[in-house]
This record gives sequence, structure tokens and C-alpha cells, in this order.
Amino acid sequence: GLSEKLSLTFKKLRGQGRLSEEHVRTAMREVRLALLEADVSYKVVKDFISTVTEQCVGTDVLDSLTPAQQVIKIVNQELTNLMGGTNAKLATAPHPPTVVMMVGLQGAGKTTNGAKLAGYLRKTMQKRPLLVACDIYRPAAIEQLKVVGGQLDIPVFEMGQGDPVKTAQAAITHAKDHGNDLVILDTAGRLHIDETLMDELKRMKSTVKPHEILLVVDAMTGQDAVNAAGAFDEALGIDGVVLTKLDGDARGGAALSIRASTGKPVKFAGTGEKLDMIEPFHPERMASRILGMGDMLSLIEKAEEAFDEKNAAKLEEKIKKNAFTLEDYLDQLNQVKKMGGLGQLAGMLPGKMGQQMQGAEIDEKALAHTEAIILSMTPKERQNPQILQASRKRRIAAGCGLQVSEINKLLKQFDMIQQMTKQMGKMGKGGRMPSFGG
Ligand code: GDP
Ligand code: MG
Repeated sequence: GLSEKLSLTFKKLRGQGRLSEEHVRTAMREVRLALLEADVSYKVVKDFISTVTEQCVGTDVLDSLTPAQQVIKIVNQELTNLMGGTNAKLATAPHPPTVVMMVGLQGAGKTTNGAKLAGYLRKTMQKRPLLVACDIYRPAAIEQLKVVGGQLDIPVFEMGQGDPVKTAQAAITHAKDHGNDLVILDTAGRLHIDETLMDELKRMKSTVKPHEILLVVDAMTGQDAVNAAGAFDEALGIDGVVLTKLDGDARGGAALSIRASTGKPVKFAGTGEKLDMIEPFHPERMASRILGMGDMLSLIEKAEEAFDEKNAAKLEEKIKKNAFTLEDYLDQLNQVKKMGGLGQLAGMLPGKMGQQMQGAEIDEKALAHTEAIILSMTPKERQNPQILQASRKRRIAAGCGLQVSEINKLLKQFDMIQQMTKQMGKMGKGGRMPSFGG
């Protein structure tokens, strides 16, 4: 995937604090390839690269990320923005029923995804949908809609091979009479854009005034899907897109190109032949998919979380066994620092203990001293500070360049913490104790 390629690329480059022009130029070659491989159209790739290059150059690399990860983070964010940032919702009519018109080329998935959408909205929004057979040119089309409707137990309205615009109008009246608050019009498609079909769809639009015209496109068809989107949008003015067959090996670049060229959002994704395989479209997930990196950023986050959790569990074990050492103390102070100071920790501790610590701040210098002191101890001393007699203390003080009084202060603090952890150990017998690591 892209992330591995970028990591390799960056290994050869120096200067990790800030993204240099050289970094970015090199990275963008890989990004460009990844996008083209994902079937994003050339023009969109070109514009995208120039936007992201501008954003990347001179950006500080976050402590927790490598330069490769930093670039991916920016690219991922920009891709997400380009696809609209968040999931775009369907319109809802102020007075039911909401009328949704499914349009698109033949085979794109109008009939099946119209039914899937009906099932999905019934399940998630308690809608009472009505499916309407407006594809009258193939006798099998009406039958197909009845079959999928039947499988989902959703009513299907049809008037045979009559004028589809009249069928749509009658269906809306029928819906009002029968308490259907959602009407989904399954229209005809052609293999290619054609005037006659567009005229019929335009007539349907102006007569029934749908609240939502959803263009269904097959993600596998790449650039053809993008061209279809342009043509349908120009002729009809679409409100959104259902991108189907994303379960195939399509990398989903069409989502990006469609949004970039028409400005219309992808609202749903079809992810399989089964009738429950539709989901709201999430730009950030698609961005990760286009980059071919799984969901790398959240993997990084999870890895960090898992590390903290493992630490917290280990600590919990030690506290229960009263085996909390100075070394653990140092670990925990570092964790606390990472999560924003003792104030946070105080909020998680019960009763008086928490109150005592409230407002206490970790001061970087004190933490550095603590660290220096503990690091100057032998492992045995860290495990067992009771053995620290005057001579040992002097040795440690000399080792870390601090006064013996500072060592005493630390030992006193540690003693207090140990008292606390003993209490917590008793408390934690049954359930979970609040973990220091968050
Ligand atoms: P229409 O001509 O636009 O009405 O297209 P259909 O709804 O008849 O679908 C054409 C074919 O694509 C059918 O075999 C569907 O089962 C299939 N199909 C539709 N959506 C998906 C999808 O998300 N994934 C997969 N794998 N197949 C799909
Ligand atoms: Mg159909």
C-alpha cells in the first residue's frame, strides 16, 4: 500500500522535523500513482496534488508520527474533504411522502439498490416505503422489482407498461392513501445516455417533483461512471449518488472524481448483491481505501491505545500484589504527562485522595529531576527503595547532579503514592481500578 511505499521513500530522506519540499515532491509521486491506480481521473489527480503539495510543505511533523505518516494524514484529510467531509444525508419531505427517484445507466444497480435503500430506511428510520416500477421497457424489470420487494416484504406499485410518469403520480397518491412515507421510483436505464430516456426522466422530475434524485453508478466502470454522472447531472440536476459494487475490486476512485467533477455527494454505497448490502457512504473510509492503506491512522491510534492498556493492566496487577516500584512510578508520571497532567488523574481518583491531588500540576522540570534520580538508581534500588541509606543516596545524588534533599523528597512522594496504591489495590479486588494511563 501507499503507506509502505512512503515509509521507504522517506527512509532515504533526511530532516524529519518539518516536511521539506524534497519530502513532499517525492511523496507526491507515490500519491499520484496511488490515485491513478484507484481510477481517479487525471484532471482531479492533478488539482489534488497541487492543493496537497501546498498544504504539506513546511508542515511540522507531529511527535507521534513519522514524516510518511504525516503526509498520509494530510493526504487522507484532503481526500476526505474533497469527498464532502462527512456523510451526506438524504432529503426528507416536509410533508410525506418523501419521493426518491433512482436514475442511472442500465445495469448500474437501480432496481436492487432502490430496494436495498427502502429496506435500510425502514430498518434505521422506521420508514414505510413503497417501491414503484417505472421501468416499463423490459417486461422483466417489473417482475424483478416485485421479486426483490417480495424478499424484503416491501410493497411494489406498478401499472404495467403504461406511461411511467403517470405510474409515478398514481403511486404517490397511493402512498398518501396507504400511509407510505417513502416512495422510491425505479426508473429505466439505457446502455448509454440517450435523449429519449433523458426527456422521459425530465418529464417525470417536473411532474412528480421528487425530493431526491439519486444517480446510481457502478464503481467498477471507473471513468464511464464519472462521465455518466456529468451527463445525468447536467440533464436532470441530481442530488446525490449511490456508488454500487464497491465489494468488487474497484478502488473507489470514481467517488472522488464524481464529487470533484459534479460537486454532488455520494450518499450511499452498495457493497454486495444481497439486499441488506447498502450503507451510508463515509468519505474518510473511502479516502483510506483509495490510498490503499486500510484505515492506517486508526490503526496507529489503536496501537497506541493497546500499548497504554497493556501498561495499565500490568500496573493493576502490580498494585494488587503491592509490587509497585519506583520504575513503575516513573512510567506512570510519563503517562500522566502525556495525558495532560495530574489534574486529569485527580478527577479519576476517589474521594479525599482525588481532592488532595486536585490542582496539582506536573512540572516538566520536576519530572526531569525525578527521571534523573530514578535512572541513577540500580535496578535493585528501584525495586526496593528501603535499602537507600545515606551512602547510597549520596552516590545517586552525585550520579544525577542533584541534592540529597531532592532524593528524600522523591522518596517521600513515592511513599505516599505507595500508600495510595495499597488502598487502591484493596479497592480493586473485585472490579477495575481507574488506570493511570487513561
Ligand atoms: P439496474 O439495471 O440499474 O436496475 O441494475 P440492477 O439493480 O438490476 O443490478 C444489476 C446487477 O448488479 C444485478 O445483478 C445486481 O444484483 C448487481 N448489483 C447491484 N448492486 C450491487 C452491489 O453493490 N454489489 C454487487 N456485487 N452487485 C450488485
Ligand atoms: Mg432495473
